[in-house]
Amino acid sequence: CGIVGYIGSEDTKEILLKGLEKLEYRGYDSAGIAVRNEEGVHIFKEKGRIADLRAVVDENVKSNAGIGHTRWATHGVPSRYNAHPHQNVTNRYTLVHNGVIENDEQLKREYLLDVPLQSDTDTEVIVQLIGLFSKDGLTTEEAFRKTLTLLKGSYALALLDKEDEKTIYVAKNKSPLLVGLGEDCNVVASDAMAMLQVTNQFVELMDKEMVLVTENSVTIKNENGETIERAPYTAELDA
Ligand code: GLU
Repeated sequence: CGIVGYIGSEDTKEILLKGLEKLEYRGYDSAGIAVRNEEGVHIFKEKGRIADLRAVVDENVKSNAGIGHTRWATHGVPSRYNAHPHQNVTNRYTLVHNGVIENDEQLKREYLLDVPLQSDTDTEVIVQLIGLFSKDGLTTEEAFRKTLTLLKGSYALALLDKEDEKTIYVAKNKSPLLVGLGEDCNVVASDAMAMLQVTNQFVELMDKEMVLVTENSVTIKNENGETIERAPYTAELDA
């Protein structure tokens, strides 16, 4: 039911956990984070409260990019294995998702009959499709774009690519998602409140847009892949 993301010079896990705590009031049944560093992507997730998630996060893992999620289950029971983030079968891609994909069963039948799925979620279909299309030779941006065109339903998405440590890929349709502009960092949040700890400068995203977020740049692209300029607004809320 909530999404956070961070890329920048600070250690990521505490920023993500604090952000998820700010979203707790919305209700959720499980939570998870993925953080990346030179060793790869580390995932921590747990059924229950953010406090339960904190208990399983390895304090020694340092990272400068990551994504986090609180889940309100729609497809698959609340459980650790259905908690986000989800990965594709090669573990190259790591995804968090808010919303509901309505044609997940059809997409599974059409594209994923040979892929051993690891959860009961609609979300895993998205990340498996991205993995499949990138294996066919598309760049991550192209594979993500192609996947978005196939989805029916609502989504706010944040994606990590193990082979591209500089970028968090973001997209939304009918679910809220913002990008926040910080100093030496940028953030992603379903609600500005989650990231007021880092910045009060936010850029609103429109449906069907896709955003490439790096430590020092935010590139918004529309459905046709054209770059969009949009000024940030100042979020007037108490952190
Ligand atoms: N439909 C997804 C799931 O059941 C995401 C739910 C949410 O928005 O938290 O895992």
